[in-house]
Amino acid sequence: MTHSQETTRELVILSLYPRDMNIYGDRGNVLALSRRARAQGFTPVVVDLNPGDALPEHIDIVIGGGGQDSGQARVAADLAGRREQFHQLAEAGAPMLLVCGLYQLFGHRFITSTDETLEGIGVLDVETRGGSERMIGNIVLESADFGEVIGYENHSGNTTLGEGSTPFGRVLQGAGNNPTSGAEGARSHNVIGTYLHGSLLPKNPAVSDFLIAQAAKARYGSFEPVAGIDETTERARASAKRRPR
Ligand code: GLN
Repeated sequence: MTHSQETTRELVILSLYPRDMNIYGDRGNVLALSRRARAQGFTPVVVDLNPGDALPEHIDIVIGGGGQDSGQARVAADLAGRREQFHQLAEAGAPMLLVCGLYQLFGHRFITSTDETLEGIGVLDVETRGGSERMIGNIVLESADFGEVIGYENHSGNTTLGEGSTPFGRVLQGAGNNPTSGAEGARSHNVIGTYLHGSLLPKNPAVSDFLIAQAAKARYGSFEPVAGIDETTERARASAKRRPR
């Protein structure tokens, strides 16, 4: 494959509900993922999906963030109409990252602290109940696949896992799914749900690489990581580009 063919390999990133579900810098995850995909030799194409929009013909990676309960109510109805499509994508191995409010709605349901039930689409085998206490602050996890993962959480929902999902990580500091289980997030197929917000991908490039690798293997048959890239070299490259010659 020639160099020019390699650099035109596109990856379509579906950004879910950025108008309603984009809190605590969750857009930063989309930017970090795009930039990492570029550094790994792909051309990222970000498609925003807001309620009522048509899905693009092809989707390589799905990413979504958190929001207020009111934002969740707005998107829950729209998401319900797309249930089959997201199940099919997940079962076909499409990588997805759902943070906080959308993590809850990719589970079976979110029962708010005022006892309102927002039905989820059940891609992840989890259920969430609104609690009286917020879990806020920096959080550190140990994950078998990603090593130490660091981030920031802010939620009052308490999530419990069913047998069809495994945790994203074990909590070393912070709360995670709920204050007592010691588990954070959920995984099923190549779908990751987590309470870690918009600093997740900027701070943990291994998670971006997982999403990119799964997408590249599915679409192009293989993934060869670019040797020696890390945040430092990526940052150096970006600032070198900006510098006038
Ligand atoms: N409303 C949910 C909760 O507080 C989600 C919050 C969020 O997405 N930041 O549990």
